[in-house]
Amino acid sequence: MAEANSSHVAIIPSPGIGHLIPLVELAKRLVDNHGFIVTFVIPGDSPPSKAQRSVLNSLPSSIASFFLPPADLSDVPSTARIETRISLTVTRCNPALRDLFRSLSAEKRLPAVLVVDLFGTDAFDVATEFHVSPYIFYASNANVLTFLLHLPKLDETVSCEFRDLTEPVMIPGCVPITGKDFVDPCQDRNDDSYKWLIHNVKRFKEAEGILVNSFIDLEPNTIKILQEPAPDNPPVYPIGPLVNSGSYDANVNDEYTCLNWLDNQPFGSVLYVSFGSGGTLTCEQFNELALGLAESGKRFIWVIRSPSGIASSSYFNPHSQTDPFSFLPQGFLDQTKEKGLVVGSWAPQSQILTHTSIGGFLTHCGWNSTLESIVNGVPLIAWPLYAEQKMNKLLLVEDVGAALRARLGEDGIVGREQVVRVVKRLIEGEEGKAVRNKMKELKEGAVRVLRDDGFSTKSLNEVSLKWKAHQRKIDQE
Ligand code: UDP
Repeated sequence: MAEANSSHVAIIPSPGIGHLIPLVELAKRLVDNHGFIVTFVIPGDSPPSKAQRSVLNSLPSSIASFFLPPADLSDVPSTARIETRISLTVTRCNPALRDLFRSLSAEKRLPAVLVVDLFGTDAFDVATEFHVSPYIFYASNANVLTFLLHLPKLDETVSCEFRDLTEPVMIPGCVPITGKDFVDPCQDRNDDSYKWLIHNVKRFKEAEGILVNSFIDLEPNTIKILQEPAPDNPPVYPIGPLVNSGSYDANVNDEYTCLNWLDNQPFGSVLYVSFGSGGTLTCEQFNELALGLAESGKRFIWVIRSPSGIASSSYFNPHSQTDPFSFLPQGFLDQTKEKGLVVGSWAPQSQILTHTSIGGFLTHCGWNSTLESIVNGVPLIAWPLYAEQKMNKLLLVEDVGAALRARLGEDGIVGREQVVRVVKRLIEGEEGKAVRNKMKELKEGAVRVLRDDGFSTKSLNEVSLKWKAHQRKIDQE
């Protein structure tokens, strides 16, 4: 850990691979470009998952990981929503975090800065006790961050359920949002997950700064407004796009099979279909998607997970407990063997998206997946499932023009005909061309902001100088 003259940053990723991956990329950048020492402090309510271990094992030796003893969540009902479990896990790990900071302090290795994510603000209690500077890394975009910073006010001023609002909510800098598209925990204000969300976002103002995984070309207006000084909001630093650079949990055979298969497909012809590290479809939806992909006649790689009635059911463990292949329609694999490749539970996504045979990505709009598409110029079909994904869809479809929408029917299902239509529109239609061109533009913007003199590089430089100054102050005390 801390060597002489190096500043030390501790990072707490709340449970979920989608939170861990961009924080790992941040850590690598802090070590490689700014000479920091980084320690990951991992909270959990059970031993780390295979996917989590795989990500952490890939870290260079200069980045340490420390697993806190599992928090006891035995009193939490199994029906509790993911946001409740995640927040409680971090909160209940505070005593163990305090013990860790106490021993680091005794060894004169205390970090100068603690970085948490959206659900980790209770760790600020411990940071403050030890004069460690508290920061937030917001792993999604500036639009949703703006919404969250505004949420306490909406909570005070709106008395009904947000989903019953008849007009879209207008927040300066944000795409107009209907209540039904608000982040998942806002869909039932009596649920504990909403209370935890409000609890966390109210604490955002205690942070010394908020780093956001977005960039100026993608959300110019939102970022401009977020960076205007506001009495209650900490300074915001857009430092993205920080994207996954590893294949992590992918099985070596799957990795070889996918990349080898892609090598044999025409340029820009393949649709990559994946719902992130935890997304699952219902049985009916899974079936309709399968039939639509087959009927479209287009090439595809589809990462499948066993269906479930709860869209986030694989959030804490991306691997299906049952064989996902057994849920495919009869004859599907035979029927599509010339044009399709199906992978179980986890694929080497970052390598797939860089492959020149990829022509589109049907995505759940997870923010990491979105950024990984942007840096590769891959156009999207937006098919949001949970968390803040519906808001991401609004941004991508309505504002940025980087995605086509997969339309839900009245029964709440994207029917097979709709799948056929949207896949063809993306891969061979005029609208596909337009979103592809937009993606090319964004890809160039993403390169620009990460140059030595780029906007995001300068933002991270600014933060890192503050962190080093704080380290010097602590060292002198
Ligand atoms: N991922 C992957 N292979 C998979 C599924 C996901 O490598 O089969 C990675 C993906 O590259 C991304 C992350 O897991 O970095 C998923 O994050 P995202 O924000 O897109 O969605 P989440 O899983 O948080 O819903």
